[in-house]
Parts: sequence; C-alpha cells; structure tokens
Amino acid sequence: MWKLNRSLPYSRQLIEEDDINEVVKVLKSDFITQGPMIEKFEKALSKFVGAKYCVVFSSGTAALHAAYFAAGLSHGDEFITTPNTFAATSNAGLYLGAKPIFVDIESDTGNIDPNLIEQKITSKTKLISTVDYSGHPVDIDVIRDIARDHDLIFIEDAAHALGAKYKGKNIGALADMTIFSFHPVKIITTGEGGAVCTNREEFYEKLLMFRQHGITKDKRKFLNSSEGDWYYEMHELGYNYRITDIQCALGLSQLRKIERFLKERREIAKKYKNDFADVELFDLPIEKEYAKSSWHIFPIKLKDYSKKVNIFGELREKGIIVQVHYIPVYWHPYYQKLGYSKGLCPKAEEFYRRELSIPIFPGLSEEEINYIENTLFEVINKYSKS
Ligand SMILES: *Cc1c(COP(=O)(O)O)cnc(C)c1O
Repeated sequence: MWKLNRSLPYSRQLIEEDDINEVVKVLKSDFITQGPMIEKFEKALSKFVGAKYCVVFSSGTAALHAAYFAAGLSHGDEFITTPNTFAATSNAGLYLGAKPIFVDIESDTGNIDPNLIEQKITSKTKLISTVDYSGHPVDIDVIRDIARDHDLIFIEDAAHALGAKYKGKNIGALADMTIFSFHPVKIITTGEGGAVCTNREEFYEKLLMFRQHGITKDKRKFLNSSEGDWYYEMHELGYNYRITDIQCALGLSQLRKIERFLKERREIAKKYKNDFADVELFDLPIEKEYAKSSWHIFPIKLKDYSKKVNIFGELREKGIIVQVHYIPVYWHPYYQKLGYSKGLCPKAEEFYRRELSIPIFPGLSEEEINYIENTLFEVINKYSKS
C-alpha cells in the first residue's frame, strides 16, 4: 500500500540539480554580491513580464518599501490597501510614516473590491496598493482608471502572481509599479528576494538609489562637483536592500523553469476543481474571465467553519500542512494600538474565518494529490454539520 513519506506544505520550492550548479558557479567566481548576476536576473525578469525595468531587492518587503518610497509616499499621507494580505503590504507604508486605509474585499476572489475604493479617497491619499490574492490578478483596468482619475499611483503587490495573466497579458507592467517576492513558498525562489518592475524611468532611478543607501555614482547627477573618480554622493536616506549574486543565480535558473512550474500548479488546481466539483462541504476558488491565476495558493472556504481548529489540527497531524490566508491585517495588536478595530472589513473577516489553503506546488505527485483529496474530504466531513 502507498504511504505518505513527507509532509505536504500549502506551498514550497522546487530546487533541482541544475539550480544548485548555478549557485556553486557563483560561489567559485570573483563576485558573490554586487556582481554581474544581479543585472542578468533583472534583464530576464523584465523580458519575462514585459516591463522596461526591473530592480531586484533582498526581499519582497524591501521591494514594497522601495516602491512606496519611489511613489513619494511620506509622513501624513494615506494609502489604500487590502486587509486580506500578509502584513508587509501595509507595514511598508508605515515605515514611511503613512497611514493605511483598508478597503474590504470581493468574497469570490479575495481581492480588494474596486467598487469600494473611491469612497475612501481623500486629499491625503497618495497611492493604491492592491494584492493579487492567491495569484488571481485584481481587475487592473478598473483600478488603473480610478488611480488616473484621482491622480494616484497604482502599485500592484503581485508577490503571489508572477506568471499570472490579466486579459492575456503577463502581470508586471500593467500597474505603475509591480512587486514580486521570491520567498520559497512563492512561484520561483531566491531564498529571500523580491523585485519591482516598472515602465517608468523616474521610478527606476529612485528604486536603484533606495536599494543602495540613497547613493548615486552617476556624475551627471552630482549636486556638488566631483572630487575624483572615487567620488559618490548620497541624496536620499536609503537602505542596504541589495540581493546577492548567489541568490540571483538561483533566481535566473528558476526563471528558466517558470512555465513548467506554472503548468504544474494549474494542473493541480484543475484536478482539485474537477474532483471536488460535487463536494458541498466547502467552496472552491474561481477565476474571473479576465484572469489566469498563477495558483500560489489554493484557498478553499469551509461552509461550516465552527470546528476549523479541529480540521486544521487533524490535517496537520496527517501530514497536510494547511495554512490560513489571511488574518485581516488590522486585527494584529500593533494595528489595534494604532486605532483600527475589528469589524472594519466584514467580508475580509468572514473570508478569514472560512479560508483554508491546501497544498499546491510543483513536484506534488499523483498519489499525494489523491491522499490530500481523500483525507481532506474525510476530515472536513467529520467536523461539519450535514
Ligand atoms: C510574501 C509576501 C510579501 C513579502 O515578501 P517577502 O519576500 O517575504 O518579504 C508581500 N506581500 C504578499 C502578498 C506576500 O505574500
């Protein structure tokens, strides 16, 4: 009889021999950071998403911080965002002294509801930062129009959505700036890492400076006269948000396989949808007609969630490492201290109550998927009122 011989997380990386070889090559070279692999990875990413510029960072969070900075977000400003995300989307605005304004979500996609954005715009609003939850793009055209009408910058946190498509186009150059993450649970990995993609040169230059302490080595930009060839100037208070060449070698190697990774994720999603089509214990994720998801996660929503704690625990005991995405950001004690209270976004709260992310990642075997399906049904059925 077949037996499960590893635990199955909700998502994970797939690292192969050739990925490892590319990393080893860099380790044996002259530059393990600030070398040639960084620009190579940036060029490959730009080409893949169809953006003029990409700047890679030490994490997706650093990329978000840099994008908000490049957008000019600063003390006293407001920015519109979603509560159904990892805290980083909103935290990065707090770093700059700005105030997150949470807008409730659509119950089907889990994405920010574009119909609720305009009523939250004030004279202080600077930007809109949306999240492509689970890899399903937001309705970009609608949000871009709102941003244009109100003179706001549109930033797309596409940490889940590398390789996702909106109306047939790759995510990455459709908002003013698009953010990706290369954490191991995401579509491709560099260990830790992130990127901002944009078509706008002024953002590109700010992003580069922000990554490196706000320093420029470009003579044409100097405010004082050059003291000699060693000379450089610091113009902004930036950070050390650099990524290493070691990581970029891994990223480049992973990017070459992205179509295979995406195909595997899509096939698993299709199988779940097929096999669970008649199951009434939970709702399945959908894809709107404009969207092709990258399936970073596969979120199901329990009909009866009164025993979710038991379901969660028993699935984990059986080797299925489910997760819940997400605790509404403003529920965190840090945000409560800032004055946000529960009840602010009822749909996001209900989504959180019901949601459970089940395993989806390249390398999941047929037997493992069958095991997940059978176990899931059995455990949820046991803890649901019929
Ligand atoms: C993963 C993630 C981030 C942060 O990325 P890191 O690379 O972990 O810093 C930001 N936003 C969302 C929606 C994410 O899922």
